[in-house]
Amino acid sequence: MSERFYRDAQVNIDLDKIGQNYDAIKAKVNKKVIAVVKSNAYGHGSRAVARYLETRDVDFFAVGTLDEAIELRMHGIKSKILVLGIISPKDINKAIQHRVAITAPSKEWLVDSLQNVSNEYDKEVWIHIKVNGHMNRYGTKDISEVKEMIELIRSSKYFVYEGLFSHFAMASVDVDRARQEQAEFKEIVRQVETPSYIHISNTAGALLVEDEFTNAVRVGIGLYGYYPSEYTKERTDVVLQPALDLVCHVVDTHEVKKGETVGYDETFIADEDMSIVTIPIGYGDGLLRKHSGYHVDINGEQCEIVGRVCMDATMIHSNAKRGDEVRVIVSNHDSLQSLENYSKHVDTITYESTCLLSRRLPRVYSSESNEVIFNEILK
Ligand SMILES: *Cc1c(COP(=O)(O)O)cnc(C)c1O
Repeated sequence: MSERFYRDAQVNIDLDKIGQNYDAIKAKVNKKVIAVVKSNAYGHGSRAVARYLETRDVDFFAVGTLDEAIELRMHGIKSKILVLGIISPKDINKAIQHRVAITAPSKEWLVDSLQNVSNEYDKEVWIHIKVNGHMNRYGTKDISEVKEMIELIRSSKYFVYEGLFSHFAMASVDVDRARQEQAEFKEIVRQVETPSYIHISNTAGALLVEDEFTNAVRVGIGLYGYYPSEYTKERTDVVLQPALDLVCHVVDTHEVKKGETVGYDETFIADEDMSIVTIPIGYGDGLLRKHSGYHVDINGEQCEIVGRVCMDATMIHSNAKRGDEVRVIVSNHDSLQSLENYSKHVDTITYESTCLLSRRLPRVYSSESNEVIFNEILK
């Protein structure tokens, strides 16, 4: 973990906010909360986030791929880790070696995986059976297949039947529809042997869809302080606080005469004499070309991105000075630079925006006790 970086842009992450979001959701659901840190903790940095949460007694994480789970293991994360995606049966021994729990989507997949167990580690692997719902993405909803899967797991000395789970398609947009999904899953749960963990809710489900038959929830976006949708925000009293700011500094300034242009393709033509400032981030950092027209905050003023966003730089209509701070994303739901507004400008959701903040943006983590800088490209 490099403690240094040499560029005028950074992502600031307040880890205590993530801890407080975890506590707020935990208090709401009163079930096991599995912290979802896939896709580099939604761009916040999975190593730092998982390490921090472990210090707050979080002991169960979920990721998307086996590589992500191994990454956490290689950086000292000892807690339980579930891979939510489907690993290749030929990689089953890696899951065993690293003591990672995995998702089983079908009987066929289980049979394949079992055939691939090499016995070289002589340890068992925890299996969570995925019950398909309205997503039609992973898993089966055939009750006899689920029963056969449980039997197969039971009869193998390498597999442990640890979980049964499903996933909502509709919890962030229509609670009634989600309750229907929940009822379909419950009907399957009712008919089979109960494992240690039964889970269906993501953040939206945890906030809006209560139940008595599950004992865990999988929370991603809520940890990072964002509501999955406006719909969710309007219907919950749980307070979530964003943890992330994207800030940089003006690196150059230009006085542009009426009729002159700014940026590639000369798409912006000054309609009067004006000042233009340049910031050192662009689409290579996750600020999209579609962000042209978005306003950033410089010294409390709303300043528009003009012309094309470049890979490494972006020009802004502003009379700020070299070195002035530019706030691109602000950790406040009500800011004009909220991640919600930043995302809306490019027709996407908060999830996608933070995932796109690229590896060359250094992450600066603060918490009550200390500050840590993580620059992935100089590590
Ligand atoms: C990503 C993911 C989650 C977390 O969803 P959020 O809406 O971010 O809380 C939960 N479960 C599964 C299966 C996922 O893929």
